[in-house]
Amino acid sequence: MKLIDEINKRRTFGIISHPDAGKTTLTEKLLLFGGAIQEAGAVKSNKIKKGATSDFMEIERQRGISVATSVLAFEYRDIKINILDTPGHKDFAEDTFRTLTAVDSVIVVIDVAKGVEEQTEKLVEVCRMRNIPMIVFINKMDREGKDAFDLLDEIEQKLHLRVTPLSFPIGMGYDFKGIYNIWEKNVNLFTGDPRKDIEETIEISDLSNPELDDLIGNKAADTLREEAELAQSVYPPFNQKEYTEGHLQPVFFGSALNNFGVRELLDCFVDIAPAPRPKESDTRIVNPEEKEFTGFVFKIHANMDPKHRDRLAFIKIVSGKFERNVPYLHVRHNKKLRFSSPNAFFAEKKEIVDVSYPGDIVGLHDTGNFKIGDTLTQGEELNYKGVPSFSPEHFRYINNADPMKSKQLEKGIDQLMDEGVAQLFRLELNNRKIIGTVGALQYEVIQYRLEHEYGAKCTYENLNVHKACWIEPEDEKSEEFADFKRVKAKFLAKDKRGQLVFLADSQFSLQMTEQKYKHIKFHYTSEF
Ligand code: GDP
Repeated sequence: MKLIDEINKRRTFGIISHPDAGKTTLTEKLLLFGGAIQEAGAVKSNKIKKGATSDFMEIERQRGISVATSVLAFEYRDIKINILDTPGHKDFAEDTFRTLTAVDSVIVVIDVAKGVEEQTEKLVEVCRMRNIPMIVFINKMDREGKDAFDLLDEIEQKLHLRVTPLSFPIGMGYDFKGIYNIWEKNVNLFTGDPRKDIEETIEISDLSNPELDDLIGNKAADTLREEAELAQSVYPPFNQKEYTEGHLQPVFFGSALNNFGVRELLDCFVDIAPAPRPKESDTRIVNPEEKEFTGFVFKIHANMDPKHRDRLAFIKIVSGKFERNVPYLHVRHNKKLRFSSPNAFFAEKKEIVDVSYPGDIVGLHDTGNFKIGDTLTQGEELNYKGVPSFSPEHFRYINNADPMKSKQLEKGIDQLMDEGVAQLFRLELNNRKIIGTVGALQYEVIQYRLEHEYGAKCTYENLNVHKACWIEPEDEKSEEFADFKRVKAKFLAKDKRGQLVFLADSQFSLQMTEQKYKHIKFHYTSEF
């Protein structure tokens, strides 16, 4: 098969949601359609559950699962679908942000009763900023929830999306009768039988057809006619280009648990979702059809077995063909590496592959060469953009609690940072190490892993920082910049790449500083 056909055959996407909206359940039903798994319950939730086991055990359990669910691939209608796993827990939001740099589109799952929740807002915002095409799935229609129109309004207002329903619910909760599929123009009646994986749909090309009354009763039929008409007059019609450019988001309704409305979602997804897309690098835009292989690391999993320092680096292939045992350039190290056992993913299994194509994810065994954001090419010196660090929410000094083990601590911190568990800053003033994280849970993870994987002990010390900003002066040699560095010396640090960072202790001081130093830019992410 030609490269272009391989590319067109692939759809790589992520499912994002607030925890409990139904991401795991939906993923599982999608895999069932692909015949990749046989039974319900096969896909494990990657959630951190508090309670029964200790938190550390829970973290380990979660890490185990998250290796298994990092990439779930299956074939459907001759299309190779790669689902990239995105943790829903807010303390792992950075992981999800980075994974979003490797997807070509997303499906957003929303709970019909809870509507738009906090994590949905954050994750959708990241997708919106990057114009990632999104399809919305409103889940749990078998339960009482919000009115469809109210919910669509809420999605438009809170998520700043422009929606177009491609299916419409007939009733909900106790009265849920099914969905009218605007995309395919048919009606699917809800029976509440989750085992039914092939749904019978009834063609209704025209809603005025009296057959509809026989199917769902006069009252429901009239309501559907009114609502469908209203929906079609209030919302813009579907437009492929607007969707692909991230300016229009189709909406589906269903119940993942009952495997209802999922087939409709998947069929439409296969029809409209983009194949692997061109990607911007620091030197140029790279097209997937280019002959030469390029790819980048978006995720690293390390030390699942503490006896072996094994790491698996996840590479998204952007262009060309990736082949086993062929030397590729690790651009940051300017060094050629070859990989004898690259892993591909199928459902929950991984296996060694000889060739992979754009859109695919390969897992490469690594002994410490890779760091998130690293680029591999066939020789060209380019680096992919868009694996940014955001300002952490929490900051603490990290101290060595066992002077005999300072080497181990150094190494552990170094590797955990490469993996993207947290961000490390060094204070300019005294070189003290500061760990910045998105959630407080990360400090426990780091402490636990340092001890169990590296034999090092650490303690933390609180530090009052509101936000980290990456600093870019218009002129490095200006009087103003020199003054800034002098006055703010106490608050300056370097990140891992040696970029200068201002650690503002409050929103107020950040504002004052920004106002005072007009020729210095304060960036909220490390990519600018
Ligand atoms: P995640 O945290 O987003 O991965 O959510 P899960 O898939 O683990 O689902 C959270 C809970 O919602 C589980 O108890 C599911 O059984 C339940 N759930 C998922 N989909 C539906 C649905 O369509 N209807 C109902 N009633 N419950 C659902």
